[in-house]
Amino acid sequence: MKLSQRIGSVGESVTISVTTKAKQMQAAGIDIVSFGAGEPDFDTPEPIKEAAKTALDAGDTKYTPRSAVALRKAIAEKLARENRVYVRPEQVVVTFGGKHALYDLFQVLLDEGDRVLIPAPYWVSYPEMVRLAGGESVFLPAARVDGFKITPRQVLDAADGAKILVLNSPANPTGVTYTPDELAAIAQAVLKTDLIVFSDEIYEKLVYGDTQFVSFAALDGRLPDRTVTINGLAKTYSMTGWRLGWAAGPLDVINAVRRLMSHETTDPVSFAQAGALAAYTDPRMDETIETMRQEFERRGRHMADRLNALPGVQCVEPTGAFYCFPDVSEHYGRTLGGVSVSDSLSFTQAALEGAKVALVPGAAFGDDACVRLSFATSLEQIDKGIDRLDKLLS
Ligand code: PMP
Repeated sequence: MKLSQRIGSVGESVTISVTTKAKQMQAAGIDIVSFGAGEPDFDTPEPIKEAAKTALDAGDTKYTPRSAVALRKAIAEKLARENRVYVRPEQVVVTFGGKHALYDLFQVLLDEGDRVLIPAPYWVSYPEMVRLAGGESVFLPAARVDGFKITPRQVLDAADGAKILVLNSPANPTGVTYTPDELAAIAQAVLKTDLIVFSDEIYEKLVYGDTQFVSFAALDGRLPDRTVTINGLAKTYSMTGWRLGWAAGPLDVINAVRRLMSHETTDPVSFAQAGALAAYTDPRMDETIETMRQEFERRGRHMADRLNALPGVQCVEPTGAFYCFPDVSEHYGRTLGGVSVSDSLSFTQAALEGAKVALVPGAAFGDDACVRLSFATSLEQIDKGIDRLDKLLS
C-alpha cells in the first residue's frame, strides 16, 4: 500500500528495535547481555498492583471521568508537595505514558515549520515527534567535554523565531542532571525570549550522590505560564507496561491535549489509573522508591567505573536516570569481532556479533561518538557484559 509521506519520514525507535533484536536472540538460545532496555528491571511495587486488582474486581472497567479526576488531583498535590509547582487539577492531563503526553503536546502547539530547540544528545523520540507535528528540530549541541549540558547562551542564540525548548534533566541518554543553578541560569535566558518550555521530568526520582533535582517551573514565578511539565509512572514506579504518564501546565494547552485525546484515545486504562493513584498516595511508596534508587546508584557508579577502565572508552559519571553514554570513538577505524568499525552503529554491531552485548548507537541520540548502555540490569549482568566488551576491545 502507498503509505503517507508523514509516516514515510519516520523510522522505528532504535532503542526499541535494539531491545527487540536482543530479545529475539535470547529466545533463540543465544546468551546475550542486553544493555538496551530503558526500563527498570524491578517488578511494580505490590501496593500499586493491589490497587489495580481491587479496582478491577470492583468493576472499575469503564470510561473514567471520575477516577481521572481523582488521579489528576493526586498529581496536582504531588507537584505542590514535592516540586513546588502549583497547578489546579484541571491543569493536569493523564496520558498513555510520558511519550503520549509529549506527542500530543507537540501536536497541539506546533504549526507547519515551527521550530523546536532540542539539546543534543537527545531522547530518540523528540525529533520524530516534532516532525510528525510538522515542526522543525533545531539541535543545541552539548558535547561530552561540556558534561553534555547546554548553556544559557546557546538558548539565547537560537531563540529567535523558535517556539519550544525541550529540557530533560535527568537526561536520557547521557545520565546527566543539571544543577539547580545551571537550570536557573537557563530559566533566566528563557525569560528573555518567547520560548515555551517542555520540561521532561520523567527521571526526577532517579538522582545520585548529592545531586539535587529541581522542577523547571519552580525556578521563577513567571515560568508556570510558559512551562509544561511532563512526567510519568514508568521509570519511578517500574510501571513501563502500564502506559501511564501526564502533563501539567497552562490550562489552554492542557485542555487542547484533552480535546485531542477525546478523539484519539480517551482517558488511560481505568484500573491502571487506580494503580497510579496508589503510587502517588500510598505512604509506603517513598521507601520502595528509595530502595530502587539506591540500587540504581550502585549500578551506575559501578558501570561508569568499569567503562572508564576499558581501553579507549571515556564515560561521564551518571548523576541521574539509568544510562551511561560513553565515548567509544577511539575505536573507530578498527576491526572488532570481524566487523569494520567506523561509527556508533558499526560499533554496536561489533559488540553484538563479537561480544554478544547489546548497546544502542549514539547516532540515534544525535552523538555518533558514543553508545548508550542502560544500567537497569543486575550488577552481575553489568560485570558479565563489560568483561566481554573488555575482551573485544583489548
Ligand atoms: N521521556 C524520556 C526522556 C524517556 O526516556 C522516556 C522513556 N524512554 C519517556 C519520556 C517516555 O516514557 P513512557 O512513555 O514510558 O512514560
